[in-house]
Amino acid sequence: MNKLVATPERPEVLAYIALGANLGDAQASVRAAMQRIGALPQTRLITCSSLYRTAPFEATGPDFINAVVAVSTRLNAPELLLNLQRLENGAGRERAYRNAPRTLDLDILLYGDASICSPTLQVPHPRLWGRAFVLVPLAEIAPTKVSSAQLLAVASQEIERLV
Ligand code: ATP
Ligand code: CA
Ligand code: CA
Repeated sequence: MNKLVATPERPEVLAYIALGANLGDAQASVRAAMQRIGALPQTRLITCSSLYRTAPFEATGPDFINAVVAVSTRLNAPELLLNLQRLENGAGRERAYRNAPRTLDLDILLYGDASICSPTLQVPHPRLWGRAFVLVPLAEIAPTKVSSAQLLAVASQEIERLV
C-alpha cells in the first residue's frame, strides 16, 4: 500500500531587501520591483519603506533612488537571491564594472537571524552598516534593527526622503 508522506512546510522567514536604481526612470523601476518582489513564489510583501534620493556613494552616475522592503518568504536564501537576480535581469541590469550605474539592484540585507558566508551570498549584507541609503530606509520600517549610533555613523551621507 502506498503511503502518502506529508512534506513538512518550510518556515516563513522575515527578510529585508534593499532596492536601488540610478538609470532610466529609477522611481518607476523601484516601485515596480517592490510589486514584483511581492509576487515571487512563496513570498509576501510585508512593508515597503518610502523612496529616498541619494547621491552616488562609492559609485558613479545620476542620483540613486533607494528603498527597503520586508518580505515573509518560504524561499531559502539562495533561492531568494536567484529570484532577485532574475528581477534585476528582467529590468535590464548590466554589470559593466563594479558599482556601475544600474537599472535595478536588489540586495538581501537580512534573512531572519541567519549568518551566511558563501562565495555568492553574504548575509547580513557586509556593507550594510556603512551606507545611509540602506540604513535610513531600514530604520524606517524596522527601527529595532538599526541603533541611533549606527545612524549617527552615516549621518554625513546626504539622503532625502521623497514624499
Ligand atoms: P554591493 O554588494 O557592494 O552593494 P553591488 O550590489 O553593486 O555591490 P552586484 O554586482 O549587484 O554588487 O552583486 C555582486 C554579487 O554579490 C552577486 O553576484 C551576488 O552573488 C553577491 N552577493 C553576496 N551577498 C549578497 C547579498 N546579501 N545580496 C545580494 N547579492 C549578494
Ligand atoms: Ca548593492
Ligand atoms: Ca547587488
